[in-house]
Amino acid sequence: MLEKLISFENKDTILVSYSMRGEELVVNEALKVRALPEGSYDELLEFLRLYRDAVQIVVDKIWGIDEKLSKKKLHRLFYSDLMRLGFRAHHAKEIYVYAKSLVESAESNNGRKPVLRKLSARVDKYDYKLDLDSMTLTLKLHNGYEARLRLVAPRERVEKFRGWSNYELVVKYDGKSFWVSIYFKRIVKSLKPRTVMAIDLNFDNVTLTVFTLDGKLIRLKKLKTPHRKILTHRIWIEKIQKRYPKSWRFIKGVRKAIERHGKRIRNISWDYAHKLGDLVAELALKHNSVIILEDLEKLRENNKKDKEFNKKLGLWFYRRIQFCIEYEAMERNLQVAKIDPRGTSSKCPRCSGKLVEYGHRVLRCMKCGFIGDRDVTATINIYNIYKKYISKYSRCGVSGVAPNAPQAR
Ligand SMILES: [Zn+2]
Repeated sequence: MLEKLISFENKDTILVSYSMRGEELVVNEALKVRALPEGSYDELLEFLRLYRDAVQIVVDKIWGIDEKLSKKKLHRLFYSDLMRLGFRAHHAKEIYVYAKSLVESAESNNGRKPVLRKLSARVDKYDYKLDLDSMTLTLKLHNGYEARLRLVAPRERVEKFRGWSNYELVVKYDGKSFWVSIYFKRIVKSLKPRTVMAIDLNFDNVTLTVFTLDGKLIRLKKLKTPHRKILTHRIWIEKIQKRYPKSWRFIKGVRKAIERHGKRIRNISWDYAHKLGDLVAELALKHNSVIILEDLEKLRENNKKDKEFNKKLGLWFYRRIQFCIEYEAMERNLQVAKIDPRGTSSKCPRCSGKLVEYGHRVLRCMKCGFIGDRDVTATINIYNIYKKYISKYSRCGVSGVAPNAPQAR
């Protein structure tokens, strides 16, 4: 199973992870909203305190135990004690599983025993009822208590999750308000692609081409990137830091100026990535395309493209763009595949000969005389690599299906 864990805040929801299960894509998203208790919330607060203390008790007991604790063992050790405290069966399970995960991550990080202060509880799907129509949530608490909460969110934000299946949730109290993160899952059956969209990311432009399955180019689009603008802000930041090499962190005005440029960079890049992701996915939907991207990890290994690519900006912006493309594609049940970009801008798509510069952004093949725009040539190569991959795949008995979406990192 390929899995990708990310936390991505898309204004309303958080994409938790997505993974491939055979040909199915499983998307996990969380809806995080403020929740207003209807009536008294004394029991809810009591529940959260009790829950926190119970997790702490389990943490204290299993801290330092060397043997591997299976769920069965945990159950035997803690179940009846937790039930005696007034918890429900699934509360108990959530508590010891959560305690165990806390201990494990503490052991692999700093090695200090976790001390819980915040009021937060994981609740199994059997212990709450969500009503999307009335936007209410009923939590089953200890000792048979119940708490009803109203979700404070615009209708359409919640509406998105109709038809998804919800599993657990986390309820929190920050001293002022209650917050819930409800986890949803959706299984996406991808559409069978009829065309292939190849995308080449460059410093100045994004080039996308759509090919039929037998290789005819039917669409070509070049879009400008805001890279130069981002770079200008980057240069400003560096200039300021150079002028105050030791003190920029401590002088408020200077720090603020740097933060301002940083914020501009963030806004420009997210804004662009969201818009491009949307545009690409819409076009891919129209043409029913599988979207082919270059694998950026491999790109770094190969050290392809020009110095501009790595040095000046790093790969973060390309990653952000790809992430938004993948996200928007997923929203539309489209497939995304990544290919090893080796040679996409140096090999002749016709004869695999070496390409050399032939004027501004034009390449020419030394062997067969092929001449082509640099970016379009790159997308032809991306398409070819994908086709090769696919035919290899089909020979192995997998019927012409795309080599699935995002790769595991
Ligand atoms: Zn050639």
